[in-house]
Formats: sequence, structure tokens, C-alpha cells
Amino acid sequence: MTKADIAIIGAGAAGLMAAIWAGRTNSKRKIILLDGAETIGRKILIAGGGRCNVTHYQVDERAYAGASRNAIKKVLRQYDVAQTTSFFKEIGVQLKREETGKLFPTTDQAKTVLNALLKEADKFSSILSGHRVSDVINKGHLFEIHGNFDTVQATKVILATGGKSIPKTGSDGMGYEIAQSLGHSLTPRIFPALVPLTVPRNHWLRDLKGITLPVKLELWGPTGKLLESFENSMLCTHFGLSGPAVLDMSRYYLDAIRHDPAVRLTINWIPQTDFDQLVGQFKSEKNKSALQWMRDHLPERLVKTLLANLFEADDDSAATLSINQLKKADRQALAKMLTRFEVPVAGDRGFDFAEVTAGGIPLKELRLSTMSSRICPNLHFCGEILNVDGRIGGFNFQWAWSSGYLAGISV
Ligand SMILES: Cc1cc2nc3c(=O)[nH]c(=O)nc-3n(C[C@H](O)[C@H](O)[C@H](O)COP(=O)(O)OP(=O)(O)OC[C@H]3O[C@@H](n4cnc5c(N)ncnc54)[C@H](O)[C@@H]3O)c2cc1C
Repeated sequence: MTKADIAIIGAGAAGLMAAIWAGRTNSKRKIILLDGAETIGRKILIAGGGRCNVTHYQVDERAYAGASRNAIKKVLRQYDVAQTTSFFKEIGVQLKREETGKLFPTTDQAKTVLNALLKEADKFSSILSGHRVSDVINKGHLFEIHGNFDTVQATKVILATGGKSIPKTGSDGMGYEIAQSLGHSLTPRIFPALVPLTVPRNHWLRDLKGITLPVKLELWGPTGKLLESFENSMLCTHFGLSGPAVLDMSRYYLDAIRHDPAVRLTINWIPQTDFDQLVGQFKSEKNKSALQWMRDHLPERLVKTLLANLFEADDDSAATLSINQLKKADRQALAKMLTRFEVPVAGDRGFDFAEVTAGGIPLKELRLSTMSSRICPNLHFCGEILNVDGRIGGFNFQWAWSSGYLAGISV
């Protein structure tokens, strides 16, 4: 039997941060970090294409979904971007801001971030890899932690087991079961976020594989109300659609479609121009052919594919007619195809390809100044296990740093 003052379950971004701050706050206590994975921090290493997008220069609650924005703000403001960047500087990681607003280590290597966190956490805690927790039993005055190791007894526990995205990194949702066994609930749905979307097997969108271009994606409610919109680059692939615009939109689409199958996701291939503006532009460039107009604005392969699927099969000469000569219905169809093309989403690529998890432990079950449970005394939470998911850009790590810090200093 191993005894500890604090046991942190999960040594990802949030758990490491919690260990560091628990140790910095009181270095006399025995802290152990238990992680089921043989290699610690795999998700940090693959983050940001191996460069680890640590945070964003401007983080606010509007970049997140899940819990209420007010609740998310309460956590973020207690440990903000300035504190995060100076913390990383202190542990030897200099961050640089890129044009997109994302902050990366100046080395452009995720291992700089992971090594610094491990080195700092190691000063205050024992980091035990290959220690997979299966049960946490609340004995009243302490917790008994079971798994593939000798039982651990701890006075306080921080649950930092992440969500379900990329289960092979070690985050497979086991933490949810542990939280439930300690009295917590889960949101009604836990689903992939920042995930690529698929289209039906024979759809021509798949023929566009390899094309990357800036688009505006728009999510429309059944009555035509615009629910969400993202303008960024999109990557067409052999299964459907990916790239930042699609990843950012995915959780909103997947959430909305479940509540109402009549919602629609559309692509505007010419993001600066909406349907009405395009109809106006057609009037001023009426002598150009549809083909020429599209070639002036879009990559050739996309032009060919769109045209092949726009006009009637026996009427492909329509593309060479001047816009003025097109039938009104064809002109409208062209404008619609270019600015409001409805994506026939078949599904998503699932947790194996999702960067983050939507849903989790509701924030209302925690005291947000300490990340402590309102249900089970001496239990704290941090990171992706909670019902918070952020956009692409460093927001998910910022959530891990802020919530990990709070859990660490309060435990
Ligand atoms: C491909 C990819 C790229 C990403 N890029 C970025 C990026 O650049 N910027 C950004 O902000 N976010 C990025 N994210 C998201 C970000 O990595 C996560 O939101 C963040 O790592 C969550 O941290 P966490 O500590 O809460 O959970 P995790 O990092 O998932 O860590 C949880 C840990 O708990 C352990 N664990 C789970 N269950 C148990 C158990 N039962 N017993 C013991 N241990 C257990 C796991 O092994 C794991 O080590 C990316 C995610 C992916 C998948």
C-alpha cells in the first residue's frame, strides 16, 4: 500500500500543471501522479502538428462551448494568458506569437514544452507511468485507488484523465466512470469535437481530395437562422472534409443535427462574398462566361468539378455561355453552388481522429474558484474531462493550464 497526500490521476497537460502548482504551493506534501500510458504526454507531443500550440494571445470564453460562457470565464480569468506565458518562460519555454494569434514554443518543438513540464513536475511529485487506475473508492477520510499497481491511499484526489479523443494516447474515457462512481454526473452527450466530417462514398466532394482553400462554413437552423459561421481554410480529403474551418464547425454541427435533423451546413467557396453580393457581381460582369468567372476566383480542379455537377448533364455548354445568357434558374443555381453549397454530411471520423471531446463533467458540479467537487469532498477536477471544449488555436491547452493551476493551488 502506497500512501500520498495528493494523488493526481492523469499526467496530461492538466494533471502536470496541477502537480506543479500543488507542489509549488506546499512542497512538504507527498504528491503522486498516476498515468495509465507507458509514455507520458503523447498528446502534448502530437499537438499543433508536433509544435504544440500552447495558447492563443487572446483567450476569451467565446472561443469555447459546452458549459456556460460565464462559468468558463470564471476559470480562465483566474489564470490568464499573461500568467501562462510567464509560467512557461519561468520553466524555460519561450513562446512566440504567430500571425494567426497562436503561441508556439520558439523551438517549434512540442517536446520542449513536455520536457519542461515533466522536469518541473518531477521536482514536486512522483510521476508513475503505466499506472492505470480502474477504481477510486471514497472511504470518507481518504480515497483508495486501485488499478494495475499496489493500492494507493490518498487524502485528496485530482481527476485529470482527459476525454475520449485519440484513445491510444491513454485518454479513453475511463475517468468518466471514476467520476460517476464518486457521485458525479455526465452531460447527456459526449461526442467528438474538432473532428473531420465525412460525406457519402460516391459524392463528388471526395474527388476534390488534396485541395485546400479558404472558405466560409455556415450552419443554418431549420427556419433559416444562421447558427454558427467559421471562415478559415478547408481541406478536401478522400473521406470528406477537414482543415481548421471544418474542425471548428464540427461540434456545432454534430450537436445541432442531433437536436434537429433539418439543420444545414453550407460552404461558401468565395468567403468574402455572400449570395446577394454575388448575384450583384454577376450583373456587373454579365458578359463573362460562368466558366471564366469561376476560373478567376477558384482553383481549376474545383471549377471543373463544380461545373460538372451544377448544370444538367446534357447542358454542359451552359458554362461557356455568358452569365447574361444563362437562364435565371441556372444563374441562381450557380450563385447558390458558389456561396451556399449544402454539404451532404454522412458523419464524423470519431474519437480516433477528434482533437478534443465535447461534453463531460458539468461545471455546475464544481466550485470554480478551486475546481473542487460540490459532491465529493477532497476531489478536484481539471482539463478535458470537464464539459468544456475550445476552438482550434491553443484554447484547449489554455483550459488545461487554467483549470490545472486552480486545482493545483487549491488542493
Ligand atoms: C492531434 C491533437 C492535436 C492537438 N493540438 C492542440 C493544440 O495545438 N493546442 C491546443 O490547445 N490543444 C490541442 N489539442 C487538444 C489538447 O491536446 C487537449 O485538450 C489537452 O491535451 C487535454 O489535456 P488533459 O490533461 O485534460 O487530458 P489528456 O492530455 O488527454 O491527458 C489525460 C491523461 O490521463 C491519462 N489517463 C486517462 N485515463 C486514465 C486512467 N484510468 N488511469 C490513469 N491514467 C489515465 C491518459 O493516459 C492521459 O495521459 C490537440 C489534441 C489532439 C488529439
